[in-house]
Amino acid sequence: MIFELPKLPYAINALEPVISQKTIEFHYGKHHQAYVNNLNNLIKGTSFEKENLEQIIKTSEGGIFNNAAQVWNHTFYFFQFTPKGKGTPSKELLTAIEKQWGTFDDFKKEFNATATGLFGSGWAWLVKNKDNGLEILKESNAGTPLTKGLIPILTFDVWEHAYYLDYQNRRPDYLNAMWNVLNWDEINKRF
Ligand code: MN
Repeated sequence: MIFELPKLPYAINALEPVISQKTIEFHYGKHHQAYVNNLNNLIKGTSFEKENLEQIIKTSEGGIFNNAAQVWNHTFYFFQFTPKGKGTPSKELLTAIEKQWGTFDDFKKEFNATATGLFGSGWAWLVKNKDNGLEILKESNAGTPLTKGLIPILTFDVWEHAYYLDYQNRRPDYLNAMWNVLNWDEINKRF
């Protein structure tokens, strides 16, 4: 199949000042688009042409895996945001968070610390495991919980391209601000 860049569910300046229009123009318009284009070019004439994105991620490696996973990760990332944020964690999700980390604030601290401590480029993930428990994962580069049989709930992209235009080297400031534009109505559905 031919993959396409999904249309964002908000205007490109809607997440300001947390994520600027300029960052969306580059991160979504250039980087996310490039992963889509690269993937389409790489699978041309291969058996992957007949597979959907998740199948490709689970069965490929090298350049095809990297671009397929980055397409999926970025779509998952961009679709969890909404201007000014919306809703709160559902009762079920909050209960699971409190079971694992005590309080929502302690979870947030742990999530930010994991994302801050990730060396180089990658993703911090909140995932649901096979026992319906929650875990925080850090994945380098295009790493995604899909290959580990885990259900992704929330992710922060910590590649520098995600924050450098707005926060330069201040990754912790970017991470702190991101909580203000989360769409919990969307995130709750993933749990
Ligand atoms: Mn990115």
